Amino acid sequence: MSNTQTHVFQTEISQLLDLMINSLYSQKEIFLRELISNSSDAIDKRRFEALTDASLLSDDEELAVTISTDKDAKTITISDNGIGMSHDEIIENIGTIARSGTKKFMQALKNDEQQGDDVSLIGQFGVGFYSVFMVAEKVSLVTRRAGSDTAHQWESDGKGEFTLSEATRDDAGTSITLHLREEEHEYLEDFRLKHIINKYSEHISLPIKMLGATPLDDEGNPKEGEEAELETINQGTALWARPKSEISDEEYQSFYQSLSYDIEPPLSTLHHKVEGNMEYTSLLYIPKKAPFDLWNRDNKKGIKLYVRRIFITDDADNLMPNYLRFIKGVIDSADLPLNVSREILQSDRDIKKIKGRAVKRVLDELKRIAKDEPETYQEFWKEFGQVIKEGVIEDMPNKDNITPLLRFASTESDEQTVSLDDYVSRMPEDQDAIYYITGESHKAAKGSPHLELFAKKGIEVLLLSDPVDEWLVNSLPEFNEKPLKSVTKGDLELSDDEKKEQEERKEALSGITAKLKEVLSETVKEVRLTNRLTESPACLVADESDPGANLERIMKAMGQDAPSSQPILEINPDHALIKQLDENSDNFSDWAQVLFDQAALSEGAQLKDPANYVKLVNRLLVA
Ligand code: ADP
Ligand code: MG
Repeated sequence: MSNTQTHVFQTEISQLLDLMINSLYSQKEIFLRELISNSSDAIDKRRFEALTDASLLSDDEELAVTISTDKDAKTITISDNGIGMSHDEIIENIGTIARSGTKKFMQALKNDEQQGDDVSLIGQFGVGFYSVFMVAEKVSLVTRRAGSDTAHQWESDGKGEFTLSEATRDDAGTSITLHLREEEHEYLEDFRLKHIINKYSEHISLPIKMLGATPLDDEGNPKEGEEAELETINQGTALWARPKSEISDEEYQSFYQSLSYDIEPPLSTLHHKVEGNMEYTSLLYIPKKAPFDLWNRDNKKGIKLYVRRIFITDDADNLMPNYLRFIKGVIDSADLPLNVSREILQSDRDIKKIKGRAVKRVLDELKRIAKDEPETYQEFWKEFGQVIKEGVIEDMPNKDNITPLLRFASTESDEQTVSLDDYVSRMPEDQDAIYYITGESHKAAKGSPHLELFAKKGIEVLLLSDPVDEWLVNSLPEFNEKPLKSVTKGDLELSDDEKKEQEERKEALSGITAKLKEVLSETVKEVRLTNRLTESPACLVADESDPGANLERIMKAMGQDAPSSQPILEINPDHALIKQLDENSDNFSDWAQVLFDQAALSEGAQLKDPANYVKLVNRLLVA
């Protein structure tokens, strides 16, 4: 055809297609789920756009997905009357522009050599359409955008190129025809297709129809005057709108899978119908496992908003706060206007209330699990703990509901299992603060010399090594009226006897501290005796008001300007190294620098000049 253009698939997509074509995956049937899900999305979009432009959908048109097969041509066609695609939309959506998930999906496949369950996750990565090439040697798609008169045909064998040409289609929508490969002819059988649809697409709240074969007469010829019948093969009602008592666990679970592509069942299912002056239904799922894009800032939000069963958006920031971005589900309001816009959504008071209650439900459920099923909660925390911690910072009004959910590692536990309640209940009576240390890693925090005194006194210290922890402690100045205090900051309180002893030693070592301060004047703010250390010669301390070394490190790693503050060097007068320091010796400045570098190293910091450190130590070793 003269109007046919040939396009080249974007490189990453070509690679993905190769993987699909050569896939040995045993459940290739999921291609049908992906196509039906795309049709369903397209129909949702058409319905939504028609709310503001009635010409896009006539009243008598029934929106549905239709599946038909042609046993002679060995094809299966999935057809919808959804929104369709324009010429440019085709190019953008299926071909020349890679989705952000493409690479990640391929990595997931490569890491899993058996290709166990991973291919089935394809929809989660936003590239589900390409799964058709697991079963088809050629795919032909004809689509017409609602509101436009022209249709286009996209065609490809998945090997590097696709073609686009003008086509005809009576109505808006998309039809996709798969030319099945020889070994995939099972998908021509009606019973096989019905089985797949029941398995994966039962929850689709649209009719899915199958065009049966034309009834045959006794001789096996199509009966005269009779047409093939359309059979609806799913329930087609929105699951969440049905009464709770009539929904089976399997149905809840399969709906969850359709929202999440998670292979595992959810941790909790929360289904509520609220009546009264604000009417809505919420069906929320707490997953067991974190999705691959938990840390991707512009990932889609997990909650779909419906108004009286009509899909409105899955992109509303205001249905779940960021720290609960892993919650999946549906909220269906009976009160919102159908033509609700983004702006209205953002300021609508009912939406705010619905969101507030949904958040409360999730937090209450997590609290319940933490209490009744601590081991399950521990598994949850491993997956989502870092994100829940963001809640303390993000959601001040719910702080008291979130803090009991927090779990930390401590000097009593290498795993993050200690709640603040546990910590407080173990505090000796005269301890009046909750102590913590932050570090680059659990190991660095645990090995810090700052813990020596606390170990000696038998005081538990929380060991914080997630990047978010620095912000968390900033937003959490106290818990149950006990202040949270960093063991690396400020002075430690001493008893009167200890103070007296300290004064005397200060006197005795004043020459040394003064000389150290002089030699290290560029790097430290102050040099003083410590009462924190029992085993190490020296450590670095931040002033109460300074950000501290760990936060400075994190901010630099994020490319932000960190206000560099000078630390305080504390030395341990009982340590042999300090005892043998002689401020008049020739190599005193070597000793000073080595002490400082060691103190930095023991906190897990990077030395500014490691080569110099090695040189100094070697010089002292042979002296
Ligand atoms: P996803 O559905 O996660 O976006 P897919 O690879 O399944 O990823 O589909 C890619 C895109 O192609 C869709 O986002 C949509 O824009 C477009 N598309 C696919 N199928 C259809 C269809 N039946 N009708 C309209 N658009 C479609
Ligand atoms: Mg899809």
